[in-house]
Amino acid sequence: MPHWICQTCTIQFPESEAPPPRCPICEDERQYVPARGQAWTTLDRLRGSHTNGWRALEPGLLAVQAMPALGINQRALLVQTPAGNILWDCIALLDAATEAIIGGLGGLAGIAISHPHYYSTMVEWGRAFGVPVWLHAADRQHVTRPDPCLRFWEDERQALLPGITLHRLGGHFAGGTIAHWAAGAGGRGALLSGDILQVLPDGKHLGFMRSYPCLIPLPPAEVRRMAAACGALEFDAIYGAFHEREITTGAKAALARSAKRYCAWVAGMVEP
Ligand SMILES: [Zn+2]
Repeated sequence: MPHWICQTCTIQFPESEAPPPRCPICEDERQYVPARGQAWTTLDRLRGSHTNGWRALEPGLLAVQAMPALGINQRALLVQTPAGNILWDCIALLDAATEAIIGGLGGLAGIAISHPHYYSTMVEWGRAFGVPVWLHAADRQHVTRPDPCLRFWEDERQALLPGITLHRLGGHFAGGTIAHWAAGAGGRGALLSGDILQVLPDGKHLGFMRSYPCLIPLPPAEVRRMAAACGALEFDAIYGAFHEREITTGAKAALARSAKRYCAWVAGMVEP
């Protein structure tokens, strides 16, 4: 029996003869069920229709993304450290080529995911590489395919490997997580933000929303709290969830400037 995958958000479900009646991730107000209705696929079908493309973002950091575009079309990031590799966020297509490439790079030491929109086929990845998939416990209710490889962490901070630490920022989701990579940006430090901090197309600003597709903002106090929490970290770059969404230098100032701009508009302190 197949493990069905929602075509809109690419989250995978426990095996069943027929597709699930609904996708709770898409029915949540932060995502959407397309007007044409919900559609389903499987990993086997995706292996026939898609492939994964790779890009090197900086030494020790690779991006992998499905081609052609798939679901929300996020990328996953492979962070290489002397203590092992971490996959940051997840994408639906895990195929033989991807397993071979990651295997050739030394495999994985763990997988960590920013929020439920990128859970996708995380259980397939965790099982294939025999590693834990780190999720914040505050988002546990959004897991559609439970598995022993899922490792729920709590509180505000979780060390993964030397130089890689998860931080709970909240915002978009209660368990919204970013990763701090101390060796990133040539040793100046980098944040891997998913869309908990949404890198904008200019590469100089960030957005902060409860829902990006449904345009539901976050309260200014929440954005101020998130920016202050990041202000305590050392970083100069932020890598977002999508192709070319990165701030390669000056990211700390960009975050402060973006949070201030956002709060001024949402609090009605700017004259349009
Ligand atoms: Zn869905």
